[in-house]
Amino acid sequence: MINQLQEKYQLSLLWLLSAVAIVGIFPFAVIRYFEGNLTAAIIDISLVLGILVLVAYAHQSRNIRALSAILAVFINIGVVAIAQANGIDSFLWVYPVFSSTFILVRPTEALGINVVAGVALASSSDIFTTVSVESYVVTILMLSLSTFVYASHSEKQFRLLDALNTIDSLTGAFNRRAMSADIKAALSNAERNGTQPLLAILDLDYFKAVNDKYGHAIGDEVLKNFAAITTSNIRQYDRLYRFGGEEFVLLIPQIHDQHHTFINNLRSSIKQALKTPDGEEITVSLGVAPWTPGTTEHSWLKRADEALYKAKAEGRDRAIFSSACKT
Ligand code: GH3
Ligand code: MG
Ligand code: MG
Repeated sequence: MINQLQEKYQLSLLWLLSAVAIVGIFPFAVIRYFEGNLTAAIIDISLVLGILVLVAYAHQSRNIRALSAILAVFINIGVVAIAQANGIDSFLWVYPVFSSTFILVRPTEALGINVVAGVALASSSDIFTTVSVESYVVTILMLSLSTFVYASHSEKQFRLLDALNTIDSLTGAFNRRAMSADIKAALSNAERNGTQPLLAILDLDYFKAVNDKYGHAIGDEVLKNFAAITTSNIRQYDRLYRFGGEEFVLLIPQIHDQHHTFINNLRSSIKQALKTPDGEEITVSLGVAPWTPGTTEHSWLKRADEALYKAKAEGRDRAIFSSACKT
């Protein structure tokens, strides 16, 4: 999954690319047509239209990663075709096209596409009557490798930015911003595709007493341990978020038959592993709200919170399901 930040950025780059295609390629289609090179004019027009259609589809479908990959292959095929049809003049397009490939796909993928297109170009066009093989290889390599380094660096920065944007710095759990986005996605998935997600609020019992007895720094350690223990006891696609203070949210995108057992096993695993420095157990209460049709982000959290309230009122160290909370 590409993150939301990257998705927005990628989409704006795609639109920029289509603007560049219109301004940069379209005039050449007209020029080639009037020069009488109909094949080159058709290739240019197809390139502009193809880019526009693919970017518009990426915008509409939000399947940005797949469409960016198709676009990368498409423009590379385009540059090979136009260099074949129009010779050295159009061959120079290889440079902007090769560097654009790096804004469309991952650096290693772009490098791979560039290599294939570079070899195809060299073997299919007659450029080596005008340009020396060495110049071609060295300039292409320098362009691709320097863009590769830059793109790899930028990818790392995005990952870091995404972590800063979505991860709670104390516990390493996801933060509320990530939670809100994932809840929206889970709700739309449930309405559209019939998945059965579940949301639970987990609240540490008598946590204030831990702070009071051992100090805030130990309290922080307990919160970190809690997040680590919980994360290691949930499945790959289940996610833990810090809701605030000593309250966490668990989002399970798809429940299974034994979800009651799973939740209760999770509670006892936490109880067994989470300890104060004196070895006393720290327990957790859970308010659990399976998805029901018509659920909104607000109503889901409210149902889970009501169930949690009941779990606390009934003595803590337990999980209450919202279906058992009819008032
Ligand atoms: P209950 O069983 O009813 O949930 O009792 P509780 O003591 O856990 O609940 P209460 O809401 O009274 O206290 C929560 C405490 O969590 C109070 C606050 O100082 C502490 N807390 C909130 N955020 C942090 C944090 O980031 N670090 C530490 N160490 N403590 C925190
Ligand atoms: Mg508490
Ligand atoms: Mg609380």
